[in-house]
Amino acid sequence: MKNKSIGTKCVQAGYTPSNGEPRQIPIIQSTTFKYDTSEDMGKLFDLEASGYFYTRLQNPTNDHVAAKIAALEGGTAAMLTSSGQAANFFALFNICESGSHIVSSASIYGGTFNLISVTMAKMGIDVTFVSPDCTDEELEAAFKENTRAVFGESIANPALTVFDIERWAKAAHAHGVPLVVDNTFPTPVNCRPIEWGADIVTHSTTKYMDGHGAAVGGAIVDSGNFDWMAHADKFPGLTTPDDSYHGITYAEKFGKDGAFITKCTAQLMRDLGCIQSPQHAFILNLGLESLHVRMPRHIENAQAVAEFLENHPAVTSVSYPGLKSNKYHERAMKYFGNGGCGVVSFELKGGRSAAEAFMKKLRIAAIETHVADARSCCLNPATSTHRQLSDEQLIEAGIPAGLVRMSCGLEDKEDLIADLEQALN
Ligand SMILES: *Cc1c(COP(=O)(O)O)cnc(C)c1O
Repeated sequence: MKNKSIGTKCVQAGYTPSNGEPRQIPIIQSTTFKYDTSEDMGKLFDLEASGYFYTRLQNPTNDHVAAKIAALEGGTAAMLTSSGQAANFFALFNICESGSHIVSSASIYGGTFNLISVTMAKMGIDVTFVSPDCTDEELEAAFKENTRAVFGESIANPALTVFDIERWAKAAHAHGVPLVVDNTFPTPVNCRPIEWGADIVTHSTTKYMDGHGAAVGGAIVDSGNFDWMAHADKFPGLTTPDDSYHGITYAEKFGKDGAFITKCTAQLMRDLGCIQSPQHAFILNLGLESLHVRMPRHIENAQAVAEFLENHPAVTSVSYPGLKSNKYHERAMKYFGNGGCGVVSFELKGGRSAAEAFMKKLRIAAIETHVADARSCCLNPATSTHRQLSDEQLIEAGIPAGLVRMSCGLEDKEDLIADLEQALN
């Protein structure tokens, strides 16, 4: 489905039933698959034939949905994971090992910040965080001999900084390493990072892709563009024989198009097992079928809410890339053509306590640790998702203590604004 437009891919890519087969993607509720001979199964274990043998590694339902996400992002291969956390961990750990170093945007999701700076540090993987607004010299200075990946979020959750994908891709490639972009907030409907030079794209499908607050999940997409063999010394896991897989060299056997996802499935999923259940993949696909219809409505609501808040005397500042006054407006227009997502952040006069009092009064937007849901919700990051960050780190990540993050759902914008107005008053 390479040449179809995005909406048609949302509805139809990834699964084409043949004569008499189910119209909807079937949920293959089976952990295992049957074979006539041991020889048939042996070929699967040797990666000599493609097919299914155990759902921890692959399941047809998941593969159809992953193929749809690959088509949406313009990649060559994709896989589903049990969560967005697993997607980012797998994407980085597939190319990093003890002794590796990562260059990451400092403005990223709190969970990913912990993953990289605490948990991956325990595995001997080092990180340098750089402001997404850094100078070329600062970005250049972050790279080391052992840098193996560059990471950023196309729109950071919750700071709403817009990542200059093209610039960071060039810097990564100049150092012979791939750029990994978490594209959860804009979704491929608004931004396709691969078109701007990203090599690997990740998602928390829990957010807009599912879009109904029903299923936690993640996805990894490979652009098929990064030439692992050209930088063979940096990526031995892809370019030298895998003894745990019968001496296969992934980059030789599966080429640029398939090596990354094949290794990630055959090795990381085999050993770490963060698989998405076929039931969840089915629910995710229902969300994907309407993603292109829902995203414009989320953005229309967010734009209206941001404009209302910007003119309200109780509000100190509003952050939404769709606002002309926003620092990232020009960059958002370049990469998304609009505000990019339905999430708006704003700071109230009176800081943390004012934010808490205001949120208590809201009737439509509920207090939730969630975004990108059909139902509007809001959160004070400093007292919830980001409570492990010091005040200094909060400022560095662009999240002052009195910040409220509001995820505008699919309700009518007049009702959302009326709700905000009564709570502010
Ligand atoms: C939520 C989120 C994650 C983590 O995803 P889970 O599905 O909750 O594990 C990662 N990145 C971004 C940008 C997110 O918003």
